[in-house]
Amino acid sequence: MHSHSPGFPVQRPRRLRQSPALRRLVAETRLSADQLVLPLFARSGRRLRQAIDAMPGVFQLSPDELLREAGAACAAGVPAVLLFGIPDRKDEKASGAYARNGIVQQAVRLLKKELPELLVITDVCLCEYMSHGHCGIVQGGKGGAKILNDPTLKLLAHTAASHAEAGADLVAPSDMMDGRVAAIRAELDREGFIDTPIMSYAAKFASAFYGPFREAAESAPKFGDRRSYQMDAANANEALREVALDIQEGADMVMVKPALPCLDILHRVKAEFGYPTAAYSVSAEYSMVKAAAAKGWIDERAVTLESLLAIRRAGADIVITYAAVQVAKWLK
Ligand SMILES: [Zn+2]
Repeated sequence: MHSHSPGFPVQRPRRLRQSPALRRLVAETRLSADQLVLPLFARSGRRLRQAIDAMPGVFQLSPDELLREAGAACAAGVPAVLLFGIPDRKDEKASGAYARNGIVQQAVRLLKKELPELLVITDVCLCEYMSHGHCGIVQGGKGGAKILNDPTLKLLAHTAASHAEAGADLVAPSDMMDGRVAAIRAELDREGFIDTPIMSYAAKFASAFYGPFREAAESAPKFGDRRSYQMDAANANEALREVALDIQEGADMVMVKPALPCLDILHRVKAEFGYPTAAYSVSAEYSMVKAAAAKGWIDERAVTLESLLAIRRAGADIVITYAAVQVAKWLK
């Protein structure tokens, strides 16, 4: 036993850090496989696993391989996947996004048939299906192009309804058009999908951290950028207004994207609204860790777990991450 000098503080925070069991007992934030969502990229074909260079361990998958990957997620205890589609053809009205037999619709049907207990969330956007790669209908050409808000809503609503019709458990609009949640809710209800929840990408920033994803989803804009619809990284109060609007319009869950660069936003959104809040830990968050770990500069497991814990601590109930299966295994 150590004796201490008189007058030393009575409070010694280190008392509660003395053993792993004690630290576990007083941990304020926990990370569990129950909170994870795995994004998956579907494209047509058979036995196709097309590697994405900038995202080691992530692939574009044909439906059979997608099923295999989703099965592995299920087995690891990950409760949900988030589906993106890469269509064979793109056009100016994103036909592939709402085609009855579109790639996402096929993948949803297969997953819900073979893995009924797995939650299937679909990303609702048009960029992967538009020849120009923007998230909405474009008027005018290079230089003077304008992304039209209101005409785009109809296509987004069709897309969401076609995902619900295929069996999607939740739809997740990511386009950042104004009024899309209301338009989607109205069409879902009209088509009889009153119980299909909407997880809206409510505060989605125009972020350089999406770089590697554009290779994965083949959705880079052919001209211009997305700054006329996605949010400016400088703004936090505006993010709260975006979230408030989506909730008014009927969002059941809200999302902040990206995650690590937006911990303050996550914190404020959770504190202000108390809604189920998701954070999308985006492609570059994943790729930077992979790249540094491959060089031996960081401990991949420790950095990944600490990052996800920080995202949870900031206020996220749900974390969407490309590392979901690996993390679920580490947590076992
Ligand atoms: Zn988009």
